[in-house]
Amino acid sequence: MVRGIVRGSHAHMSTWPFFALVLFSKVIGHAALKAKLIGNIREGRVAHAQLFMGPRGGGNLPLALAYARYLLCQDRDEAEACGKCSSCLQMNKLEHPDVHLEFPIFFTDKVKVCEPFTVQWRKAVLAEPYIDIEQWRDQLESENKQLRMGVDIAQEIQRKLSLRSFMGGYKVMLIWLPELMDPPAANKLLKVLEEPEPNTVFLLVSTDAEQLLATILSRAQLVKVPALRPTELAEALRDRFAELTNDESMAIALRSEGDLLEAVDMANKNEEELFVFFRDWLRACYRREVSVAVEFGEAFQKLGRERQKSLMRYGLYLIRQCALQWQNVPELVRVLGQEQEFVQNFSKLLNHANADGIRRELETAHYHVERNANPKILFSDLSYKMMGLLRMTATA
Ligand SMILES: [Zn+2]
Repeated sequence: MVRGIVRGSHAHMSTWPFFALVLFSKVIGHAALKAKLIGNIREGRVAHAQLFMGPRGGGNLPLALAYARYLLCQDRDEAEACGKCSSCLQMNKLEHPDVHLEFPIFFTDKVKVCEPFTVQWRKAVLAEPYIDIEQWRDQLESENKQLRMGVDIAQEIQRKLSLRSFMGGYKVMLIWLPELMDPPAANKLLKVLEEPEPNTVFLLVSTDAEQLLATILSRAQLVKVPALRPTELAEALRDRFAELTNDESMAIALRSEGDLLEAVDMANKNEEELFVFFRDWLRACYRREVSVAVEFGEAFQKLGRERQKSLMRYGLYLIRQCALQWQNVPELVRVLGQEQEFVQNFSKLLNHANADGIRRELETAHYHVERNANPKILFSDLSYKMMGLLRMTATA
């Protein structure tokens, strides 16, 4: 699911761009908090150590990264980093030489520091800035190994801090999930926090402050990141999932209690069901299996109005991808996993005689579902039309 990259095969069925820019304007919701963070930077109140604290699936990591970008931007305005200066261009890839990244890893005999994993971490975070420890574990393919931060990482932090600022401005040390530091590492970090260096900013990004040393807590300014509101989540879901109706995205948002990852999981399952339905139905139409098509009509009726609309929207989305493939612009096709296989195969059935017709029939069906047409009649009608269209050849 949005994670294709992070989570494997049936991941990434959504229309979410695989690489997200970490900018304040791209972080979901949290309007008041963003304004406060921006205001602090603009007024020169940049605390030496800040703890971005919030629940899983919330905005703590993307906010901290957007904060770092804004802090380092050479041409920011009142609300946003410019996105174009050399600093921003480096932040686009999380490769800013003055933004140091530390995160939990699994130890091997040889490797106990973050450096060798940094490329993977960047890739994972750009694919899903709301990433949690489980997704990171999947990315590392570390299965059941414990992810932690040991004393070598604390030394790595000290070594990085001793480097001069490349761009001559702030140095940012971003530590993701500092609660996973071993006690010796945490104690070393504490020492560093106790002796602040000028122009060095620690951004600690935590989901579990109770596990953090109380002394570290007391050294950092707390940036409390609340769970996302249902309206914010619903909007984010609609951006990521083309087929979701307003009501559906709101229902998922309410059930996921402010956790974007949970919501995306639900939406992906939802989408997978739609995919299987749509694919199997089209297959039956292509084979002209009339009795199977009738069964699909009955199943369609039972879906309920909202799901029916979703199915039509999703079908249109998938057919658009097939059309792009057929028109030979595969670089515009936004699918992965089993959708990709479907698009590859189905696009071969498209031609000048039927491509437009297939899209039009789905649009018409969506229009009629919205206007409360009898779903069974509507879907049977659509099935027969598809049977005809799919067998058309270019010369027909
Ligand atoms: Zn900039």
